[in-house]
Amino acid sequence: MDDTTELIQALAQQVVTMVKQSLRGAPDPRATTNLAWIETALRDVLRQVGAEALGQWLSSAQGTPEAERPCACGGTLQYQRIRPATVLSVFGRVTYERAYYAACTCGQGCAPLDEQYGLQPGRVSAGLSELLTLAGVELAFEHSRRWLKGFLLFDVSENTIRQETQALGQDQAVQETRLREQSQDTTWLQAHLRTGEPIPARLYGSLDAAKVRIEPRQKAEKQGEPEAWRDVKVGCWYEAEPVPPRQQSGRQRAVLERGQISQRATHIRYYCDLVEAKTFGELMWATGCAAQADLTRDLVFVCDGAAWIWNLITTHYPRAVQIVDWYHAADRLHRVAHAAFTQAAPRDRWLEHTTTDLWEGRVAEVIQACADLGAHCAEAQDALTYFTNNRARMRYDHYRAAGYLIGSGTVESSCKQIVTHRLKCSGAQWIVSGAVDTAKARAAWLSAEWTPVCMRWADLPLAI
Ligand SMILES: [Zn+2]
Repeated sequence: MDDTTELIQALAQQVVTMVKQSLRGAPDPRATTNLAWIETALRDVLRQVGAEALGQWLSSAQGTPEAERPCACGGTLQYQRIRPATVLSVFGRVTYERAYYAACTCGQGCAPLDEQYGLQPGRVSAGLSELLTLAGVELAFEHSRRWLKGFLLFDVSENTIRQETQALGQDQAVQETRLREQSQDTTWLQAHLRTGEPIPARLYGSLDAAKVRIEPRQKAEKQGEPEAWRDVKVGCWYEAEPVPPRQQSGRQRAVLERGQISQRATHIRYYCDLVEAKTFGELMWATGCAAQADLTRDLVFVCDGAAWIWNLITTHYPRAVQIVDWYHAADRLHRVAHAAFTQAAPRDRWLEHTTTDLWEGRVAEVIQACADLGAHCAEAQDALTYFTNNRARMRYDHYRAAGYLIGSGTVESSCKQIVTHRLKCSGAQWIVSGAVDTAKARAAWLSAEWTPVCMRWADLPLAI
C-alpha cells in the first residue's frame, strides 16, 4: 500500500465520521440506512473539503511578495498587504489570500495570483464556468439552475448561468471577428494558399435559418420589426463517412435499399448569427477559410435553400457543387401526392413513380408530373416552381455516382439543435445580443471545437 492510498483511507475515515454525525442529527431516523441520503451527505462533506483544499492551494501558491512589480501601464506597483478574496468554484464559495499591489500613478491595483489563475474575485472560477456553460447551452437558464443544484449541491443564480454562457458566445464572436479579418486580408489569403494544414479531399457545407422571438428594446428595432421575429442564420462545415451497417437508422437503410452507400456527417463545425445575408456570407467565407473550404478539391453544398442561401454560395464559392437535400425534395412529392389525391392507390402509384424519376435524375418528368396536377392543386403548382427553379441542383443520378452525401439532414438538425431546442423553449423571448450570444455558445458546444473554446475561455496560456 503506497502513501497516497493510506492518506486517502485516513481521510475517508474522518469523512465517514463527519457524515455519521450529520445524519444522526437528521429528523428522519431512517437517514443512516437511506443510500441516496448517505451519498448526498458524503458528496456535501467532500465538497466542503474541496472548497477548503482549493482555498489552501491558492493561498499557498502566493509565495513571498516582492516590494514592487511592473504595472501594465509601464509604471510601478507597490506591495500593499495580503488581502482575502472569494470566488465561486465547483466546490461552492472559496476564500483565499493573496498579495495585493497598488499605488501606481495610473491608479490601478493588481493581485498577480488572480491573473495567474484567471480568478476574478466575486465571480466564478474557470472550472465552475465550464459547468455552468454546459448547462446553459443545453437548458433554459431558469431550468438549468435547478438541474445544476442537483449536481453541485449549492445554488447558482439564473443570472450567473446566463452571464457565463453568454460570455462563451461573446468569446466565439471575438474569434469569428479575427477569422473574418484574416479572411479578407490579401497577404493572409496568399499565405493560406500554401498552408501546411491537412486539406479535406471533400468538404460539405450547409446553410439554413430559423426564426426566434425577439423582445424589441430600442425604438429602431420596434419600428423595423413589428412582429419581433428574427432569423437566426445557421451554417456548418462537415465531412462524410460510411455508416457501419449495425448503426444505420431506418432512413439510412431505406437509402441503402435504393442502391446508395449510407453515409453520415462527421467532424461538424457550426456557426451562426443574427445578421443580414451579406454579413452572414462574410462569416461563411471566414469559417470556410478555417475549414479549408476554399482549398478543397471537392466542395459540396447540400441545402434546402431559400434564394439567399444559393446566392451566397454562388457568390463565395462559384465552383462548388449545389445539391438540394434529397429528403426535402422527396418530401415535396409526398406533400403534393397527399394534397392532389383522395384515394390511396393512385396516390401511392404517382408517388412511387415520381420519387423514382427524381432518384434517377429525370427531373423533367417530375416537373411534368407536377404540371399535370397543377391546374387544380396549389401544392402541385408550388412544387412545379420549386422543381423548375432547382432542377440543376437535383441531378441525383450524378451525385450518387460521384458518391456524394445527398441528404444528411445535417443543417436541418443544426437549426433544430441550435435554434429550436435552445432558443425556442416555450415562452422564450430574447434581446438580440442574448439570442446571438447563446446561439453562438451552443454552436461552439455542438461543434468539434468545444474543448479548445473552453480552454480559451478559462484564460489558460495556450499557443493558438
Ligand atoms: Zn499603472
